[in-house]
Amino acid sequence: MEPSRRELILKELGLFPLWVRRDRTGAQTQTLPGPVADELPVTAPPAIPVIPRDDRTACILQLDWTGLKQMVKSCTDCALHKGRKQTVFGVGDENADWLFVGEGPGAEEDQRGEPFVGQAGRLLDNMLASIGLTRGVDTYICNVVKCRPPGNRTPEPSEAAQCEPYLLRQIQLIKPKLIIALGKTAASNLLRTDSSIAGLRGRLHHFEGTPLIVTYHPAYLLRNLVDKAKAWEDLCFAVETMGRLKAAQPAQMS
Ligand code: URA
Repeated sequence: MEPSRRELILKELGLFPLWVRRDRTGAQTQTLPGPVADELPVTAPPAIPVIPRDDRTACILQLDWTGLKQMVKSCTDCALHKGRKQTVFGVGDENADWLFVGEGPGAEEDQRGEPFVGQAGRLLDNMLASIGLTRGVDTYICNVVKCRPPGNRTPEPSEAAQCEPYLLRQIQLIKPKLIIALGKTAASNLLRTDSSIAGLRGRLHHFEGTPLIVTYHPAYLLRNLVDKAKAWEDLCFAVETMGRLKAAQPAQMS
């Protein structure tokens, strides 16, 4: 029999034929013990601290999509603009339930103006497909910084700080139900923590009131194949969490 598309995707992820999602009961395959999702706090996120914002941030937080895209496109507020071919704003459904946040554009992203289009991007697309998602359909993908750091280095804290209001405004406009932080840079900037991915994954966090789950960066997974199984657990945890969030807050009827 021909392998199904799902089998091909899981094979690509290095996961087939060992694991299935925990809600797929009755399958003839072994189930991984995932993070405990039964005690998810889906209703009462922690109170959002009131953080004084500077004038630039306050101005960015007033922008609509058009204004925000314009401002990012012409931004020269940190040194990263000097090495970019173009800014990489983000891609997808501007009303998505799912928001995936990476670190910053690499060479291919800088060339094409779209996040996650290189090798790591292909893995991200497969990760999305493994849980039934498609780039651009109910998903939005963006990065902590919108310009390529030279040599694909990690963005400096000052560079991430300059770009932060753009990401914050994207999140405010999208209003995702769930944010997935891909890797340490996204997690530490969104959660303001220095904890490792290992210490952050498997738990539900919040960014300014929006539920957030941490997983490994696809580029890391390309180099560390054994952690793909953990990323799969995180994706299953995310699917369960989204189910709970949707059940707790059904879609608005128009
Ligand atoms: N890595 C990222 O974090 N973002 C991209 O857009 C590409 C690679």
